Amino acid sequence: MPTTGEISLYFHIPFCRRKCPYCHFYVVPHENKAAQNLLGSLRQEWDLNKHLVQGKKIVSVYFGGGTPFLIGPEAINEILSWISPPSDAEVTLEANPEDVDLSAMQAFAKAGINRVSLGVQSLDNHLLKVLGRHHSAQQAIAAIFATAEAGISNITIDLMYELPQQNLTSWKNTLAQLPNLPITHLSLYNLTIEPQTVFYKRRSTLTPLLPSSEESLSMLNTAVESLERMGLKRYEISAFAKEGFIARHNTGYWLGRPFLGFGPSAFSYFEGKRYRNFCDLKKYTAALNEEKSPVDFTEQLSPLASLHERLAVKLRMLAGVDKREFPVDEALYQKLQDKGWLQLHHNSAKLTEQGLLFYDSLAEEIIL
Ligand code: SF4
Repeated sequence: MPTTGEISLYFHIPFCRRKCPYCHFYVVPHENKAAQNLLGSLRQEWDLNKHLVQGKKIVSVYFGGGTPFLIGPEAINEILSWISPPSDAEVTLEANPEDVDLSAMQAFAKAGINRVSLGVQSLDNHLLKVLGRHHSAQQAIAAIFATAEAGISNITIDLMYELPQQNLTSWKNTLAQLPNLPITHLSLYNLTIEPQTVFYKRRSTLTPLLPSSEESLSMLNTAVESLERMGLKRYEISAFAKEGFIARHNTGYWLGRPFLGFGPSAFSYFEGKRYRNFCDLKKYTAALNEEKSPVDFTEQLSPLASLHERLAVKLRMLAGVDKREFPVDEALYQKLQDKGWLQLHHNSAKLTEQGLLFYDSLAEEIIL
């Protein structure tokens, strides 16, 4: 069950300077006027929903996107002034390396940011170009050090593998640079070519350039080994943390903690209901200007479907689950064990090596 009395807040800031060719998030070009309008709408949405937060402990606030860095420290400070999170809340800002410098990060730290997530993706300049990113490996490294120097010591980076033209040697070069960096957490993703992206349109030329499945598996195994060696322990399928730095916000998603999402396309999960705001800035703003809810999709799962879904999500954590917390049909646990995806021991169920690799298929079996 969700931990009673705790909640997380997510703010989706949809602005980016340009859209990366592999990106499938809801993103619009950054303009100051639009950013100002968004701030007004977020305030309206906060006012509509703040009663839901009353009496609950805010564990984490996450500014994601998009590139929330672009709205600036004053806007972040203003949003945090409405919320007044407790001093021990984890407050994360996503940023892109090319934007980051010492004075900006000092201003964000002063505004209340205590954790930064940097979209590094790779430390190979050629692959960064392939990804259509606008920073270099050197800028990424400088951004990490500038963030640490600004006093934000909790730094997570995103890294991607299984990229067109990537090979194991270039991946090892990226991994070899990590021990020298002051990072506390890392999220590791393989590239997936999603519909409605530029990469999807170019998929017939890109697909032959992707590493083979054997190479991709070697990349993953090499990464896990080298990250664990530097003290970044894998605690979720794609997340690695130094001791004491597990992402409190993301862990809430996996453990079923309620969260409220603000901004266009933001999801919420509250009192067993899942809902999402309009994926369109104009519609989102218009609804709020009419004092209406900007929610355009709501789903209330049956108690059984919700139990199955929470089981699937919590199994992402390498610590696994206590089966007594998820009393689904025992035959399901047995079936997943027979497939080699789940390891059962007394009341505990956790993913095997195969289960980690085939998590999506396992989740399909569990979710009703
Ligand atoms: S910076 Fe991030 S959110 Fe923005 S377009 Fe690129 S991948 Fe998408």
